[in-house]
Amino acid sequence: MALHITSLNSGSNGNCYYVGNKNDAVLVDVGLSCRETEKRMKKLGLDMKTIKAIFVSHEHGDHIKGVSTLANKYGLPVFITGKTAAHGPRLIGHLAKKFTTDEPVSIGSLTITPFVKYHDAIDPHSFMISYAGVNVGVLTDIGRVCSKVTRYFKQCHAVFLESNYDETLLENGKYPIYLKNRIRGGLGHLSNKEALDLFVEHRSPALSHLLLSHLSKENNSPELAAQVFEPFANGTTVVVASRFCASEVYTITASSFLDRDRSIDQPVQLGLFE
Ligand SMILES: [Zn+2]
Ligand SMILES: [Zn+2]
Repeated sequence: MALHITSLNSGSNGNCYYVGNKNDAVLVDVGLSCRETEKRMKKLGLDMKTIKAIFVSHEHGDHIKGVSTLANKYGLPVFITGKTAAHGPRLIGHLAKKFTTDEPVSIGSLTITPFVKYHDAIDPHSFMISYAGVNVGVLTDIGRVCSKVTRYFKQCHAVFLESNYDETLLENGKYPIYLKNRIRGGLGHLSNKEALDLFVEHRSPALSHLLLSHLSKENNSPELAAQVFEPFANGTTVVVASRFCASEVYTITASSFLDRDRSIDQPVQLGLFE
């Protein structure tokens, strides 16, 4: 009883997260082209036929640009709120299925729970995908850690967690002040420090994998984000999801962390996929 997860791409150039079991899978956002999504799935040995639905977190281009083509090619339902649909991917027509915040949706053997988040979009949502007691969170594009983020984060065995920017790099960087304030103003993105605080304070003892996601190209680096989390990993596998390629496929079980012998000193499990 396991969920397989991968980031097909993560960053402001395109986001696409795969979560599924042997029979059923969903994509959260399709910010890659249809062709690139297919190519990366194939390279990982994942079958497009397992994908049963697409969930759209919000209408920004890096999350929706491949949705229409992929959905139409495979006849996939696109779960989206009414408000996001009005500003979101075109040409999904009859494939659009509305979801309502906090109301779980069943897709085959999977359960997807949407919940609202703070972000400068029309009606932005995060998701927790559950199967056989295993919970995986997709938490990117969050302006701040709110009570919903902590409530769901605590329940997860694996999380795609935004770690967008280093506060000093953003402050001293070349972005205009309005953009800096947009990013750090509570409706933009989560900093490395904010993500770390969430991880340290609220992780479940069963959190086996943390995939640091949606890293800024200008105001962060995979090495820096990894360094921030390394001292606190404490047995959790911390991986940086790349903006250039897919991560490997991770298998998440309810006991994958607890099975390990934590009584002995373990090397920090840290991977970089760049
Ligand atoms: Zn984004
Ligand atoms: Zn966004």
